[in-house]
Amino acid sequence: MGKSIIIIGAGIAGLSAGCYGQMNAYDTQIFEMDTRPGGVCTSWKRQGYTIDGCMHWLVGSGPASSFYGIWEELGIIKNHTFIEHGEYLSVEGANGKSLALYADLDKLERSMKELAPEDNALIEDWVKGLKKLIGFDMPVDKAPELMGIFDKLKMLFKILPYLGFMRKWGKVTIRQFADRFKSAFMREVFLGPVGDMDDFPILALMMPVAWMSQKTAGYPLGGSLKMSKTVEKRYLDLGGKVNYKSRIEKILVENDKAVGIKLADGSEHRADTIISAADGRTTIFDMLEGKYINDKIRGYYDNPSLYPPLLHVAYGVNRTFDDVPQSVSGFNLLLDEPMTIAGKEHTRLPLHIYNFDPSLAPEGKTVLKFMINTEYEPWEELYKDTEAYKAEKDKLAGELLTVLEKRFPGITEQVEMTDVATPMTWVRYTGNWRGSYEGWMMMSLGFGKRMEKTLPGLDGFYMVGQWVEPGGGIPGVAPSGRNAIQIICKKDKKKFTATKP
Ligand SMILES: Cc1cc2nc3c(=O)[nH]c(=O)nc-3n(C[C@H](O)[C@H](O)[C@H](O)COP(=O)(O)OP(=O)(O)OC[C@H]3O[C@@H](n4cnc5c(N)ncnc54)[C@H](O)[C@@H]3O)c2cc1C
Repeated sequence: MGKSIIIIGAGIAGLSAGCYGQMNAYDTQIFEMDTRPGGVCTSWKRQGYTIDGCMHWLVGSGPASSFYGIWEELGIIKNHTFIEHGEYLSVEGANGKSLALYADLDKLERSMKELAPEDNALIEDWVKGLKKLIGFDMPVDKAPELMGIFDKLKMLFKILPYLGFMRKWGKVTIRQFADRFKSAFMREVFLGPVGDMDDFPILALMMPVAWMSQKTAGYPLGGSLKMSKTVEKRYLDLGGKVNYKSRIEKILVENDKAVGIKLADGSEHRADTIISAADGRTTIFDMLEGKYINDKIRGYYDNPSLYPPLLHVAYGVNRTFDDVPQSVSGFNLLLDEPMTIAGKEHTRLPLHIYNFDPSLAPEGKTVLKFMINTEYEPWEELYKDTEAYKAEKDKLAGELLTVLEKRFPGITEQVEMTDVATPMTWVRYTGNWRGSYEGWMMMSLGFGKRMEKTLPGLDGFYMVGQWVEPGGGIPGVAPSGRNAIQIICKKDKKKFTATKP
């Protein structure tokens, strides 16, 4: 065996780093504080129901995308069946009005025009933009850090046909786009679901719809934990080792080189290289005591621009929803009355109906889940008082059941299971700072800008995963682990190899 690598965290980034490390004859092992693989890419069981905490889709589920090759290497394609949904989301408005964002772009154009004929020209322009995006695909095979002039030229060549498109759409926010509509309902369709994240680029919505349209953003049947276990198995089959229930407290450093880790139980383990695939703040400020940092990195953490934490309120219901179209994100419901949750007022709520994955519920039954952006501080405060925290969760589950009852009369009697996960649940199980579900906001650094995988002044150390890949997501973090191994191979003057199972 070659040089040794210790990886902190068995989320998708850590598992990916492990897989590619093994493929390249490194002697790797992963230390994970939880008892299961996957980190935030997880699911959990309650009373016979499985609540999925993550995957709506995996970008690259079809061969038209460059990511597909990476999913093949990690064993995902071979071991999973993907459903390519026909709808992204159905946004409901007043008086029974609703718009489904269809993957079929002609159908989408027709239904938008029916609802807002006064905006025909704008709708045509937008759908034309969506169609242009189909086929847009950037190579992901090589770590950006290792790209030379020829690789960059190749990228430029790929981007050239889209320069006009980028000029037109690249800087438009969802708010700016929505404001172009004359139809109040259309403005609501685009602004309602995003809430106060209306400064998000409209591209962040256009790209997924275009990917769906080319059938390359499918949902892996069986859900998130199943997929994480697939990647864990791939790692173990390659000869890797995962140490669960192993919380790392310190990264050991000698002469400004990372040489090992110290666990909460006091044991120490040494390796030639250390990769942290765990939470960024914990890694930099706790494990390394803030000793390897510069103003730029400090700035990220002093003025964080993070994805908000989420509330997951799930119900196991003794009925099917065969009449409800299967979709990535279900419904965005308009509430009769605004509702205050943890100090924040909501006029709309997103409801996911898992009627597309029979493995998540006993036969004839279904999981429904509200997934709601929330504030972190109120939950952190409540969590200090176990009784109050539990009472707030129960109250919330009751209030949201009233919302469900309005939308699906009679459902209250059919509810067999209720489960509430708060930002504190995510902090407890995954250590992610402030419960953020994908780390840094996609545009926090500006379009196309990257964060570094190394820390200033520290040798033999890399960071991978969502805390160095703004926007997170499995297509962000799995290549991150792969890229770190490419960089390590280059440093060791080895040719990087990737295999498929
Ligand atoms: C609700 C939700 C929906 C999502 N939907 C999608 C989707 O549809 N498609 C998509 O592509 N992505 C989605 N994502 C995003 C994606 O799941 C994440 O960006 C990605 O899984 C993050 O992986 P990671 O390995 O970087 O981090 P994590 O999953 O956070 O992994 C970090 C690991 O490190 C461990 N760890 C932390 N501290 C320590 C320590 N001190 N010692 C030992 N171990 C430690 C943690 O326990 C964890 O296992 C979603 C995320 C959420 C939460």
